Amino acid sequence: MADMNRQALERFEKLCHNLEKVAPLAYVWHPTKPALSGPKPIAVTLQAATHGNEVGGIDVLNTFLQLLQNGIIQPPFPMGFAIGNPAGVQANRRFTERDLNRSFGQKAAAVEEEKRARALEPLLEKTSLFVDFHQTIEPSHRPFFIFPYTKASFDFAAALHDRIPIVTHWGLSFSKDGMCSDEYVNHRGGTGLTIELGQKGFDAYHGGVGLQVALAAVQYAVGLFSGTQEKQPLHSPELYTWRAVIPYEEGMTLREGLVNFQAVDAGDPVGFHQGETLRTPVAGWILFPKYPRDPLAPPPKELYRIIKRIQPDDLGKDGVINR
Ligand SMILES: [Zn+2]
Repeated sequence: MADMNRQALERFEKLCHNLEKVAPLAYVWHPTKPALSGPKPIAVTLQAATHGNEVGGIDVLNTFLQLLQNGIIQPPFPMGFAIGNPAGVQANRRFTERDLNRSFGQKAAAVEEEKRARALEPLLEKTSLFVDFHQTIEPSHRPFFIFPYTKASFDFAAALHDRIPIVTHWGLSFSKDGMCSDEYVNHRGGTGLTIELGQKGFDAYHGGVGLQVALAAVQYAVGLFSGTQEKQPLHSPELYTWRAVIPYEEGMTLREGLVNFQAVDAGDPVGFHQGETLRTPVAGWILFPKYPRDPLAPPPKELYRIIKRIQPDDLGKDGVINR
């Protein structure tokens, strides 16, 4: 596993050999004849492995870079490419000292991931449109977009794929510790989103879906910056938000086999706690079930989430999230 990770990083470096290096494993590609520009110097940035063991996105970037190097795709604007957490990739772990995806927008630069966040922030700040390729810890019935709701991110996601559902949230920050990459890009005036391709690892389907999304991001930027983009999304995306967040208490255990986007009814048995059966409080679909698979990892803050379907009219409204 570690070997494949290392090879993927080496391939990334090789494919970026003639690009502008802005940080270790972070590069900017410049077209020979820039023909379009957005509000920021870098039109689109693609990032992978913000969580070090979610390596599927590195394949997506490498395939994209290969097409770029062959001249098969010729974006008319500068593009950024970054491996989020190379130390995590090398160790095949989510992170080495601290979650990089809760480390943006802070000042601290003591531990590995804090330093990495400081190194990546200038690239993210200069980016108009940002896609962060993630993978889930457990399997997922389907890929999904996930990001804090903004109109711009929603329009971006809707344009990237017509069959990938959108999970979005608003009103409360995803995490109080530090910002996620997409949140940071939004904070700096860009438009960011995250896609979860499926369970972590190298996977041909994830590679295919990710490449579609990356190519669509370029198309979207062309439309947006040339003023030819449709004002409204061409389709109505399948939308979800949190319905319940189940906090973790010591001793809570989920039964094996729960996966992302698994449908549940209220009262379904999902685990055990102090000799009692744990049951779902509400109906919906499971998201981010947590199992203690990494003995070095701290206990999770939450056990799992339940999402529910919403309509575009619900976006941004108070009271839609009950938690
Ligand atoms: Zn992740």
